[in-house]
Amino acid sequence: MENQTQTLLKKVFGFEKFRPLQEEIINRTINGKDSFVLMPTGGGKSMCFQIPALVFDGITIVVSPLISLMKDQVQALKSNGIKADFFNSSISSQEENEVINKAINGDLQLLYLSPEKLISVRNTWLQQLNIKLVAIDEAHCVSMWGHDFRPEYTQLKVFRKTLPEVPFMALTATADKSARKDIEEQLGLTNSKLFISSFDRKNLSIEVRGQVPKKKKLQEIVNFIKRRKDESGIIYCLSRKNTEEVASYLKQEGHSVAFYHAGMNHEEREKTQTDFINDDTKIIVATIAFGMGIDKSNVRFVIHYNLPKNLEGYYQEIGRAGRDGLPSETMLYYNMRDFVLYSQFADEGANTAMQKEKLNRMLQFAEAKSCRRKILLSYFGEHLTENCGNCDVCENPPKDFEGTILSQKALSGIARMKEKDGITMLINVLRGSNNADIHAKQYFNLKTYGIGKDVSFFDWRDYIIQMANQGLIEIMYAESSALKITPIGWKVLKGEKTIRLTTPVSAEDKNKLQKPAKSTTIGETNHDLFAELKKIRYTIAKEEKMPAYIIFNDKSLKLMASELPTTENEFLAISGVGMNKMEKYGEEFMSIIRKFKNVARPRKIPTTQKTFNLFKEGLHPAEIAERRNLSITTIFSHLSQLFTEGKEIELEKYVTKQTVDQVRVLFNELGRKMELKPIYDKLNEQVSYSEIRLSIALIQKNE
Ligand code: ADP
Ligand code: ZN
Repeated sequence: MENQTQTLLKKVFGFEKFRPLQEEIINRTINGKDSFVLMPTGGGKSMCFQIPALVFDGITIVVSPLISLMKDQVQALKSNGIKADFFNSSISSQEENEVINKAINGDLQLLYLSPEKLISVRNTWLQQLNIKLVAIDEAHCVSMWGHDFRPEYTQLKVFRKTLPEVPFMALTATADKSARKDIEEQLGLTNSKLFISSFDRKNLSIEVRGQVPKKKKLQEIVNFIKRRKDESGIIYCLSRKNTEEVASYLKQEGHSVAFYHAGMNHEEREKTQTDFINDDTKIIVATIAFGMGIDKSNVRFVIHYNLPKNLEGYYQEIGRAGRDGLPSETMLYYNMRDFVLYSQFADEGANTAMQKEKLNRMLQFAEAKSCRRKILLSYFGEHLTENCGNCDVCENPPKDFEGTILSQKALSGIARMKEKDGITMLINVLRGSNNADIHAKQYFNLKTYGIGKDVSFFDWRDYIIQMANQGLIEIMYAESSALKITPIGWKVLKGEKTIRLTTPVSAEDKNKLQKPAKSTTIGETNHDLFAELKKIRYTIAKEEKMPAYIIFNDKSLKLMASELPTTENEFLAISGVGMNKMEKYGEEFMSIIRKFKNVARPRKIPTTQKTFNLFKEGLHPAEIAERRNLSITTIFSHLSQLFTEGKEIELEKYVTKQTVDQVRVLFNELGRKMELKPIYDKLNEQVSYSEIRLSIALIQKNE
């Protein structure tokens, strides 16, 4: 059986080996037992029920609430030669009947349904099917604890009871401990085993930038996108208005971009989403409403234009990048205004305390000075032992220094201003600024006025926020963000406690450190070829009316562009190429690779140039031949070609005038064709091919 599942993985999906836990889950399912699969987005959950579905002699029912996803998944399965279909509200009753007939006749391996559909057909034709497995995707929807509760899901338990012998599989990417129990209970899973894979998505780089003014933020984003030409990405904004503004700014700059938010009607949203999936729009600027029903594997970057509300949302959103496993980038921008705004929202809504706590954790993450992935994963209960090396903090670790005196200056400023003002006023006082507010409050009389002149505004801000993070001061958001000194802060002010601060890293420094797009620097991928392959993929996708990444994902194309497969076996060895795709698309892609190989060779190895370089060094043709391990004839033919191209070479040195004259006569007699053999023969093999070639070059050049 192990061999069978392994073979299916390779033959059908084109993958070499299972990811952690997949095989165990698959075997358990084939043995008829229930499982609960908790894996991050892009972790490879679908494979866990798709392989058993191919092994079983019967049908697998997949319940999913995301209608747009169903269509993509079914297309992806079909493209691998699997018999799969789906129902949703968009198909006609005739199409529906066709699907039902196929299912009843045993002509389907997988059938995707929404929960409401399943419930409504449960007692009709569904009873005639030979159901071997039921997979419940987005299983957290059954739990009232979660944020996506769907009442229809609660009826699935009844369905489960009608099929006591059939294995059920619940799958989700989000469920904390209390929700997990609830899900098992609500779905009536008996003796199910919980499988949790690591939530670490190593291929996602993490970067955070704070306090970047709007104009600069937009400029940075434009630069970022420019360096990632033609790559897909998502930019998340807090408000609908923001999405439209940012999108129009990027459009002005000539980018392929659209906005997406809940204020648009259903059709507009659908179209925007489809264009993105099909690579017709590269960048989407969206509120968090975007992304739920999207399986697009080649999203190369996710940018947060504002601070997300909590780490759960943030992690889910950045998780939409890099599902294909290729390096992908995430960037979070935040400023205190976002934080204050959210705090106010939280005050007005329900669950205030919990929401505020989550928001605080989000801010702590954004302002962290240690490995961000460590912080993020520990929030989800996973503890990394090593720093990740793929976040901005790891790549540019902060340096710390004795910061007690600096802190005392700020604390003393706060105390003298009677804890009534916010960060900006404090910094202006410390720096001795001369503005109307300071005059109105007569702050220039304070002892602390101007004692922090030597520190820039930007750095002061960073230090004060560090002080807040270390618990020296508190920002009172409910009191116009006035700064208050905490008991620890008083201790520092009185000299009873010391503290350390870290040197701020300005956005400029980060920009300087910014490497080119990660996704384009890996491997030996040939970019021209990769672009060509992408083009043909796009053309085929249009013809077949399906998303391009379903034909081959970016990872497969990159591998093709570096491995250059030109035979069926070589092509099948590319990850993501199964038998079906090999047969369907192999020839088309390989012919491009072959053409590329043929053209690339002389371009890649400018052999005449190498000869010329040695020639310029003063080497004799015979020495060049020896050095390059080529025949002397070849070297002379290089020299002839270089001479014809106008390079300065005294060919006359290598051939006598008499020979040139002999060759000229015959060359003219033979209609000036570039054929050496007849001349060679007519000269009774007395003149070498090299001399003939040199002669012709001289003859042509001198006329
Ligand atoms: P999830 O449903 O957990 O978000 P998917 O099932 O969509 O994730 O899988 C994410 C990607 O990983 C898909 O492109 C899938 O083809 C790929 N994948 C799954 N299993 C493997 C494997 N064993 N080897 C290589 N790629 C895999
Ligand atoms: Zn790190």
